[in-house]
Amino acid sequence: MNHDRLIQQFTRVKARPDGLRVECQVISWPHPSRPRSRWVKVETLAANTPEEEISAARLRLLKMPRFFGVCWMCRERQPKGWMHGERVCQACAEAKLGVVY
Ligand SMILES: [Zn+2]
Repeated sequence: MNHDRLIQQFTRVKARPDGLRVECQVISWPHPSRPRSRWVKVETLAANTPEEEISAARLRLLKMPRFFGVCWMCRERQPKGWMHGERVCQACAEAKLGVVY
């Protein structure tokens, strides 16, 4: 998934009384076939933060290992919840390693 789509789908900015809250969506699997997602606050920017800095803050989330990993097989960046372990995404694990999801 390219960066723009990851940013749109997995990050968001909420205006709050204390400023602009930068959040990242985290996917977990309490049941194997039913993913659950929740939004985690990462940082709060001043309400008057310029648009470019907001975009930079959202892009920074993509580089955080606790939220995203890069698959060494397809070299795609994926949300942690879509990774099979640290280094391989679920799609590659299924297609190339024979793992069944
Ligand atoms: Zn992959």
